Amino acid sequence: MTPKLVIVGTVALDDVTTPFGSVRRALGGSAFYGGIAASYWTSVGVVAVVGKDYPEEGFRILESRAIDFRGIDRSAEETFAWTGEYTYDLNTAITRDTRLNCLLSFNPRVAEHYPNPETLFLANIDPEIQGKILDSLPVRPRLVALDTMNYWIESKKDTLLQVLRRIDLLTINESEARMLTGEFNLVLAARAIRALGPSIVVLKKGEHGALVFYEGGVFASPAMPLEVVKDPTGAGDSFAGGLLGYLTVHGHHSPEFLKQSSIIGSVMASFCVSDFGVIGTRALSLEEISSRIREFGDLTGFRQIDYEERRL
Ligand code: AMP
Repeated sequence: MTPKLVIVGTVALDDVTTPFGSVRRALGGSAFYGGIAASYWTSVGVVAVVGKDYPEEGFRILESRAIDFRGIDRSAEETFAWTGEYTYDLNTAITRDTRLNCLLSFNPRVAEHYPNPETLFLANIDPEIQGKILDSLPVRPRLVALDTMNYWIESKKDTLLQVLRRIDLLTINESEARMLTGEFNLVLAARAIRALGPSIVVLKKGEHGALVFYEGGVFASPAMPLEVVKDPTGAGDSFAGGLLGYLTVHGHHSPEFLKQSSIIGSVMASFCVSDFGVIGTRALSLEEISSRIREFGDLTGFRQIDYEERRL
């Protein structure tokens, strides 16, 4: 059976340094982070490639989240490896090294394993691969979402622009939205991106949360102010996983569901940043998630104020 949400992206080994510590060859990658976050909300299948050096532990974690990984190919080359660093500005990842390794010869077989997902998330990966996948599916999924980053905007912008025409929802960092559109103002950047294809644009703003632009409005989904933040790597993918997992199960079109979905994105991102790698997201209890959702309710909810009635 095809899982409801299929995620194509990287499954990686990350070397990450933050002001609070560092990890080497941590289990990561856009599809890994996204899949784990989404798995608390819907059935998930992951399509990716790993190399001969990829540890079994990665598969055990996916298994523990009941994630279908028949779509992960094993290559004889090395696994995709990313080296990143953060200063006290945790909103900006500084890429020190990107080794594409087995990604260079990756030929994703989505249709073969998962012919009819309800939602397809083309997580951060080469836009050529993202386009090929859309070509290969016999039926277009109800919702197609995509994430990308500066690396691909710089190296394959034309291909990326072609794929953007074919999707419904884009998640992108604020600096990358500026880079993609040439607009500094984020409202104008979001409008320019919507004109390129996706009707929903999620602008990720790190510790300032995300802005969700959609037909008829914009919604601000904050990041939870936490006492302990160790590693922002994967926050964006966890946000997207939570958002899409919830949206897949609870409806696509109403702004109300979109707003709830983005709060769920913020919920999953808040667990992600609390520790390195997927330590913060890989084994959450029902109670932990429920209480974090309530905390978001307290953080964001207020009763409307009638100015006429309340002014002096
Ligand atoms: P983010 O949610 O944006 O912090 O994504 C972090 C993940 O993106 C890391 O686990 C990396 O392995 C992965 N990553 C880094 N660079 C790339 C790239 N060029 N393409 C795809 N994935 C990447």
